[in-house]
Amino acid sequence: MELMAAFLGNKIRHYALTMGVGQGLQLRFSWDVPKIRPVSVERETVCDGCNDSAGFYSRNAIPSGLPIGDCSLSQICNVAILGSTGSIGRAALDVLSKGDPRFRLAAISCHTQLGLFDEQIRAFSPKFAFATGPTSDALTGWQSSDSNSPPSSTLRRLGMEELVSLVQGPEVDIVIAAIVGVAGLETALAAAQAGKRLALANKESLVVSGSLMMEAAKNSGAEILPVDSEHSAVFQCLRSGHEKSDVKRIILTASGGPLRDWPIEKLPSATIGDALAHPTWQMGRKITVDSATMMNKALEVIEAKWLFDLEPEQIAVVVHPQSIIHSMVEFKDGSVIAQMSPPDMRLPIQYALTYPRRVAAPCPAMDWSQPMQLDWKPADLERYPALTLGFEVAKMGGTSGAVLNAANEAAVELFLNNRIKLTEIATICRQVLDHHHYSPSPTLSELLALDQWGRNEVQRWVTTKC
Ligand code: MG
Repeated sequence: MELMAAFLGNKIRHYALTMGVGQGLQLRFSWDVPKIRPVSVERETVCDGCNDSAGFYSRNAIPSGLPIGDCSLSQICNVAILGSTGSIGRAALDVLSKGDPRFRLAAISCHTQLGLFDEQIRAFSPKFAFATGPTSDALTGWQSSDSNSPPSSTLRRLGMEELVSLVQGPEVDIVIAAIVGVAGLETALAAAQAGKRLALANKESLVVSGSLMMEAAKNSGAEILPVDSEHSAVFQCLRSGHEKSDVKRIILTASGGPLRDWPIEKLPSATIGDALAHPTWQMGRKITVDSATMMNKALEVIEAKWLFDLEPEQIAVVVHPQSIIHSMVEFKDGSVIAQMSPPDMRLPIQYALTYPRRVAAPCPAMDWSQPMQLDWKPADLERYPALTLGFEVAKMGGTSGAVLNAANEAAVELFLNNRIKLTEIATICRQVLDHHHYSPSPTLSELLALDQWGRNEVQRWVTTKC
C-alpha cells in the first residue's frame, strides 16, 4: 500500500492511495483536497496519466516503485482529431497512420474544406466525421454523399452541437484540439469538462479562457497535454525538476519569423507574400502572420502562464532562428534544460498521445554527423511590439486575453485582405485592448461577447482610425 501526495505550488493538492489486492489487481483512490474521488480499479497498470492535471509538477514526487501507467500500454485509445484539414490535423493523421496501432482514429472534424475532408474519410475510415460549417446545400449534400462513395462505415454528422456531444461521450478517450482560433474553444472546453486527455494545439482556448479551462480540468480530472511545440518542450523539461518551486523561469524560443532580419523601418512595406514566407515552419496563413509580428509568441506567453501556473516574470522569450531548441526551463540551481529536435509538429503531437511513454516517431532525427550552430538573442520589443501586449495580458488576465485574441484575429484577416499594413496589426490590438471594459473574472458568455466586441471594434478602428 502506498500513499502519494502531489504538490501544486507549495500546497498539497492531490493524494493517491494504491493498494495491491492480489492477482495483479490494484485498487487506487485519489482525491483532491478536500474532495474525495475514487479513480480506478485496474489490472497491473493504472491510468494515472489521465487523472492528474498537475502531473508535470507532481510526477517526480511519486515515490519510486509506484506504477506510472498510461493509456497507451494497456488499452486501445480512441482519438478524435478536431480540425483534421488544418496543418496540425493533417500532421496528427500522419502520426496515427504511421504510429502506435493502439491509437485508433474515432472521429475527425472539419469546418468547410469538404473536398480534402472526403479524401481523409476515404483514406483513414474514421468511425465518425463531423462537418461544422454553416448550413448550406454543399454541407447537406456532403452528409448524404456517402452512398456515392466507395463502401465506407464512416458516419457523417453535421454541426458543432453534435461534435461537442461526441467529445464528451464514451466514444472518445483523447481529443486532439486543432481547430484554429476561438472557434476551437467550445470543443476544447468540453473535453476538459469531460475529463478527457486533451492534446491541445488550440492555444486560443487558454488565451481566451485560461482560467475556465484549467478549472474545468482540475474539477474533472482531465489532463491537458500541450501540442504547441514550445509548451510541449517546457512540459518535457519540467520533468527534470521535483516540484514547482524548483523552477526559476521558462524560456520560450521564437524563430523571429520571416522578417527577423529586415530593417525595422522597412517592416510597414511587408507584403502578404513576405509575411507568409516562414523560414523554418510550414504552418497555416494566420499563424504564419502571427509569427511575423511575434503575436504568436505573445499568445504563447499567455498560454504558458495558464498551463504551467507561472507569473509573467517567470517567462522569457529569445529569438532562436534555427528552431531546433523548442524551449527551455531554468531551475533555481542555475541548470537549464532544453528540448531539441528538428522542427516537426508530429513529434509534440505524438508525445501528447503517448505521454509519459516515448515511442519511435515518423519525424526526422538530429544529424549529429554534421556541424551545427545554434544561436539565440533577446527578443527586440521595438521590432515586435505585439510581444509587449502578450506580457501585459498575461499579467492582467480576466477579459484581456479574449480581447487581444479577437482583435488580432480580425486584424490579421484585414492584413491578408490587403486592407492594413502588417505593422498596424499590433497598433490596432493596442487600441482595442486599451478601450475595453476589463473584468477580472468573466464567465464564458461574457468572454464570447467580448470576442465579438473586439472584432467589431477592429472594423470600427479601420474605418475611423481612432
Ligand atoms: Mg508554437
